Amino acid sequence: MKYFSTNNPHLTASLREAVINGLAPDRGLYMPESIRPLSSDFYADIHQLSFHDIAFEVAKAFFGDDIPAEDLRQITADTLSFDVPLVKVANGIFSLELFHGPTLAFKDVGARFMARMLEYFIAHPVQEHQAPRGDVNVLVATSGDTGSAVANGFLGVKGIHVFVLYPKGKVSPIQECQFTTLGRNITAVEVDGVFDDCQRLVKQAFLDADLRHHLSMTSANSINVARLLPQAFYYFYAYAQLRRQQLAGKAPQGAPVISVPSGNFGNLTAGLFAHRMGLPVARFVAANNANDIFYHYLRTGDYSPKASIPTLANAMDVGDPSNFARILALYGSAHKAICKDIAGATYTDDDISTTMRRCHESTGYVLDPHGACAYEALLNHVGPAQPGIFLETAHPAKFKEKVDTILGTDISLPPRLAAFMKGVKHSEPMSSDFADFKAFLLSR
Ligand SMILES: *Cc1c(COP(=O)(O)O)cnc(C)c1O
Repeated sequence: MKYFSTNNPHLTASLREAVINGLAPDRGLYMPESIRPLSSDFYADIHQLSFHDIAFEVAKAFFGDDIPAEDLRQITADTLSFDVPLVKVANGIFSLELFHGPTLAFKDVGARFMARMLEYFIAHPVQEHQAPRGDVNVLVATSGDTGSAVANGFLGVKGIHVFVLYPKGKVSPIQECQFTTLGRNITAVEVDGVFDDCQRLVKQAFLDADLRHHLSMTSANSINVARLLPQAFYYFYAYAQLRRQQLAGKAPQGAPVISVPSGNFGNLTAGLFAHRMGLPVARFVAANNANDIFYHYLRTGDYSPKASIPTLANAMDVGDPSNFARILALYGSAHKAICKDIAGATYTDDDISTTMRRCHESTGYVLDPHGACAYEALLNHVGPAQPGIFLETAHPAKFKEKVDTILGTDISLPPRLAAFMKGVKHSEPMSSDFADFKAFLLSR
């Protein structure tokens, strides 16, 4: 299947090119040329299928033209070594717990899939001259969660070197340990600056002709189709689990409302792809923190990027969501059609704390600040006899200090998280000057 650029439908690339380059040459985002609906048999039997079987069917619809079925099955199986359970929180209200992967964040799914797919393409060059020169260098700027998921997803993958740029002193100790203690093909770069400096260094590196000539570089955030599209898997699996509940009389009938805590909108966009493939969804809700650019767009049709505002749900502190261009492309920029499928919501830090406390008191369920936005938005948009699913994107222990302060709890660190804390930290100190970063990359 071909992938076209959101800036120019005539500029196309193969899946291999789209994954290895990340961004189109005109700086647009890649979109698959067609979206294949899944069969009615698939939907009729979905409640009997395993997560692996479901994910494999979805993966074939996206990537089946480009990767042989057996290889695709292996890539999918290697990605999904953990469960994504649908947990009942209240009557008709379910949490899709996306945080049971190695770094306890939903980004594990996309990061692991992308690592395996890139590994496959490196191991199977189509022609001699298309083999990348030296390692493929994955550059990723992080304020915490992305760096840990990407570093752990790519750890030990042959032919790939990962550089994680993070702002000195501005990520939590738990997050820092998750990418600075790994070693091997993972290099942590501690930038003397803020997150925006890290992002600027990465962007400049991609644009630098000299670097491009010497190094093969790609991005591992949700602009990359290999990270974005696999996120559709768990929407189908959530529906399968909901069907089981419905058939057992334990959930209201009908298509669910699905609420997604959103920052760069990769997760929500993957859900929109699933819906295009026929997944029954009554409506999506885009739950934002105080960074309300998309909410404002839904209300007015006007899209005005802003500087991001720091909030309790910091993985959603995005002032210019990168996947907005993909949402426009999916709907031919029709504002009305977008509003029909997606409702919006925005919450202040006070709202988030109140929601976390109220949910904990009334249901016993511990929300993290990101999931809290989605939970509150779901309650505001689901009907009384309608099933609702919110995506819980991070384990609350990843934000232990905040959660404990708000709820008065002392939640325990899962062993996987505690293990990272025992490693030895190693990172390369870096100024926020691009010339220094460039010299560093060239010297390796
Ligand atoms: C990245 C992240 C989000 C936002 O996801 P997008 O795909 O960027 O919208 C939400 N919650 C958590 C915990 C995250 O790490």
